[in-house]
Amino acid sequence: MRCPSCGESDTRVVDSRDLDDAATIRRRRECATCSTRFTTYERVESARLSVVKRNGERQEFDAAKLARGLERALWRRPVAPDAATRAADEIEAIIRAQGINEVPSSRIGEMAMDRLRLLDQIAYVRFLSVYQSLDDIEQLKREVDELYAARTDEAPGQTSLDLVAAARRAPVPPTRRPARR
Ligand SMILES: [Zn+2]
Repeated sequence: MRCPSCGESDTRVVDSRDLDDAATIRRRRECATCSTRFTTYERVESARLSVVKRNGERQEFDAAKLARGLERALWRRPVAPDAATRAADEIEAIIRAQGINEVPSSRIGEMAMDRLRLLDQIAYVRFLSVYQSLDDIEQLKREVDELYAARTDEAPGQTSLDLVAAARRAPVPPTRRPARR
């Protein structure tokens, strides 16, 4: 930090304190050459968070975009209207709490699937088939079998293939919700 009086770059901090919001630090500095004292403010810059895609491309993290993806999976499912937004916000908060500035898109996908699995199984299977490119029906069936194995309230007579069929009946994610009647 250059002295504003003589331009000397050798200055020392003589006092440093947090301001009220704790996001700003005020420092008093003194020039080593001319002893001029001046004040600097240091502020936290909201950290950038990049998503690293499978092909190595980086994109700014976009919670709204993530919420839209979750919303498509949850379309017409019996969940709270803000379920997708809340899940996206939670995912962002967890990633930011780790203090990292890059996150692989696959990690976000896993976190999204974890939440969908708890929210709604049909939504989970929809998300799986779209985001994991589970073109192979056997692979999809295995995933669903695992879901069933973990379930204690399995509906009698319902098989994993029923669930796959139910997910596939409306597999095309709409781009926007139709107006409610
Ligand atoms: Zn100076």
